[in-house]
Amino acid sequence: MARWAYVNGRYVPHALAAVHIEDRGFQFADGVYEVVTVVDGRFTDLDGHLARLQRSLDELRMAAPVSPRVLVFVMGELVRRNGLRNGAVYLQVTRGVAPRDFRFPPAGTPPTLVMTTRRLARFAAPAQLADGVRVITIPDIRWGRRDIKTVGLLPQVLGKQRAADAGAFEAWMIDPDWTVTEGCSSNAWIVTGAGVLVTREPSARILNGVTRRTLLRLARAQGIAVEERPFTVEEAYGAREAFLSSATTFALPVTRIDGRPVGDGRPGPVTLALREAYLADAAREAGRPA
Ligand code: PLP
Repeated sequence: MARWAYVNGRYVPHALAAVHIEDRGFQFADGVYEVVTVVDGRFTDLDGHLARLQRSLDELRMAAPVSPRVLVFVMGELVRRNGLRNGAVYLQVTRGVAPRDFRFPPAGTPPTLVMTTRRLARFAAPAQLADGVRVITIPDIRWGRRDIKTVGLLPQVLGKQRAADAGAFEAWMIDPDWTVTEGCSSNAWIVTGAGVLVTREPSARILNGVTRRTLLRLARAQGIAVEERPFTVEEAYGAREAFLSSATTFALPVTRIDGRPVGDGRPGPVTLALREAYLADAAREAGRPA
């Protein structure tokens, strides 16, 4: 089936989709993005992702390219054209095309809006669920406003490559005080020996995951003790369970950190229960059809 992308008002064959070389996303990483997962033909956590997109735009004083209604319509149309039942829609918004100048382009310069889809046959390989995944820890070299979902992802590119080189799925980034901030494209969680679920509190130091927020709500509803606070690498090494979360992985068990087994080295019951709860909640919520 032909694969379509959406670029500034037009659906174009993926192979021909392009933006101008003076696009500010290309020149300055002056843009934001969002990722919305489609499960069984329905958007997951749609409101959360749209709200965060608006927040990211506001924080960078960027105009929304279209209204939320139009955005959702285009997302649905792209999903339909690409025959996507399970996968993700990627939205990129930049401050548009203008002669290269650090300062904002003149008011009225149209933002660039690009959408693509990615098919995911399943959201985790059976082995990833059965055995969990490995993470390594690396210094967090990102800027001071990690709460904005910007396209400035070079530190994450370097981190993910280091993880791949080490045979790991993800890298957990650490601040100079040895606390874990988050993964390169996911939030980081542990379950302590006392059974407390711990993930870092939202602040400028992490991206507040939409999946993270939903998982917190579900954990509290199940009566699980939750602490939103920083945790150190040492604490993670000694945790009973660990996992990571994102729109496209949901809650994915982490069974090795820097090569050391977490707990008994197997995916833990709290992690697996939360993954189930997330998928059940998504099905029950019956998110807006894509
Ligand atoms: N943290 C970072 C740095 C991310 O890039 C992502 C997702 O891409 C997340 C956390 C998880 O956020 P969400 O659950 O909204 O996908």
